[in-house]
Amino acid sequence: MKKLILLPWTLLWISCSSSIQPDPIDHDEHSFARPEEVVVTHLDLDIEVNFTKKELTGKASLSIKNKKNFRQLHLDTRGLAIHKVTIGKEEKSTAFQLGNPVRYLGQELIIDIEPSTDLVNVYYSTGAEADALQWLEPAQTADKKHPFLFTQSQAILARTWVPCQDSPGIRMTYSARVKCPTELWAVMSAENDTVKNDEGIYTFKMTNPIPAYLLALAVGDLKFQSLGQRSGVYTEPSVLGRAAYELADTEKMIEAAEKLYGPYRWGRYDLIVLPPSFPFGGMENPRLTFATPTILAGDRSLVSLVAHELAHSWSGNLVTNATWNDFWLNEGFTCYFERRIDEAVFGKEFAEMEAKLGEHDLLEQIKEFGPDSADTRLWLNLHGRNPDDAGSDIAYDKGYSFLRLIEEKVGRDRFDQFLKKYFNTFAFQSMTTKKFIAYLREELIQGDLELEKKIRIDEWAYQTGLPDNCPKPQSDAFTNVEEQVRSWMTGKPAKELMSTNWSTPEWRHFLRSLPATMKKTQMDELDAAFKFSKSGNSEIIFEWLNHVIVNKYEAGYPQLETFLTSMGRRKFLKPLYQKLAETQDGLQMAKKIYAKARPMYHAVSTSTIDEILKWKA
Ligand SMILES: [Zn+2]
Repeated sequence: MKKLILLPWTLLWISCSSSIQPDPIDHDEHSFARPEEVVVTHLDLDIEVNFTKKELTGKASLSIKNKKNFRQLHLDTRGLAIHKVTIGKEEKSTAFQLGNPVRYLGQELIIDIEPSTDLVNVYYSTGAEADALQWLEPAQTADKKHPFLFTQSQAILARTWVPCQDSPGIRMTYSARVKCPTELWAVMSAENDTVKNDEGIYTFKMTNPIPAYLLALAVGDLKFQSLGQRSGVYTEPSVLGRAAYELADTEKMIEAAEKLYGPYRWGRYDLIVLPPSFPFGGMENPRLTFATPTILAGDRSLVSLVAHELAHSWSGNLVTNATWNDFWLNEGFTCYFERRIDEAVFGKEFAEMEAKLGEHDLLEQIKEFGPDSADTRLWLNLHGRNPDDAGSDIAYDKGYSFLRLIEEKVGRDRFDQFLKKYFNTFAFQSMTTKKFIAYLREELIQGDLELEKKIRIDEWAYQTGLPDNCPKPQSDAFTNVEEQVRSWMTGKPAKELMSTNWSTPEWRHFLRSLPATMKKTQMDELDAAFKFSKSGNSEIIFEWLNHVIVNKYEAGYPQLETFLTSMGRRKFLKPLYQKLAETQDGLQMAKKIYAKARPMYHAVSTSTIDEILKWKA
């Protein structure tokens, strides 16, 4: 991955990165909105989905609150064609202007209003630049019969399909009416129907206020299956059985989560398993998690992803990072919460193995950035950068480690009480790093200087690298795995290793613990013994393919190509393309595969891979 974009300010930050930096004001510089003047409180969306033109057309009616007789409303848009804007229920026409386009931020939409205006109606269509939308041809779906559309609004892509105030610090309720082809079913991050209708018209309601990045829509040939009293899964018909089997523990996870940090506040918790081009593992769209089919391993071994997305119903969706600089407040908390759910449902050993894998990712990430890189801090300064390009394991696993450290120092009971109160106190509000730390000191540290010294809060939040009081997860299962690797390297045949009943985390750790370079005969032996090339488990395939690339193991190339052309999950794509690009032959192979695969990837993934391969679209 590229390190930093070395703009002058970045150099400045690096040079003083070891000193403590306070947050600047809470202003979100990735949005044109001015919520301190006029703020959107409700969105009513009325749109039609046109698969032929790959376009959404319709009207966004925004209820607004004017803080002090302001005469302009500022919205975010990117690539939208604005046809007409009116104000009030009576739809009086009004003037509007679009600002100059700014790279990845789009264009400011400035609408003239009257001090008494409480409703603004924007008539619009999406354009070719609508990066939130992925339109799939029938051939790109599992069942290959109907087209499919899904959105991905995080971090700042909601503005590419809805004119809105696209900042995580601004919340609104929403309602929607979506018209789609009659053979398809539309679902949103809102109250959904659990039966398909014949008119192709669906209505939705989200009565809890949410930030714009949680707006989500999927349209396709869907079926629904219940998983329990308040949970279920939507997928294409042919995937439904497998998905329902894999996700059977969902209800147990909701119960475990509620026991930890208080009631689930969103009503139902459903999932939709999307076609394979979905760029993420999961997206925590409220009431309806969007998930990749790469979690369908056939043995329920990859469902901690569900624990993660479910945990976001508290950390992220309920208490939300105020700006993308505070992203760790969403992801670090969610990683911590996820592993607590894992522990409650699957046991301590499983949760510790997951934590060990996370620790490995964290150390690798810090090594890649360099320990003095400003990108290794929890609180980030994303000035001048696209927040979508700046996400890394730091927010997730350094954030996790920080919270685990606090837990270890104050004791689990006290920490759990603190977190429960935190989610309750700040429910449906946004949070900055500074505000969180103030609350932490007030509620938990309470002037205890010894405790403060043991935790070193400011060092964790604002300084680079990894503090030396970082907690160390312990796993006996992983110690055994490491022993098996050592035995193999000192001559024990692979098929005689003690690997019976290993879980997915153990296999992942095994593959990660193997030497970086191996001979062809060693790769042959491993594959003959453990059938990595036949695995149906995406995490195991991924770890194996890393060795295939580094060792130029030609027998593994067909599997590599199949994997890269059959799913679009950025977490897998990015490191594999990166590794390929390290050698001349590899780069050539990568480009050949990418030419085939690119049309199937989402814009979130192609923007990353284009850069790795220096691809000119
Ligand atoms: Zn997450």
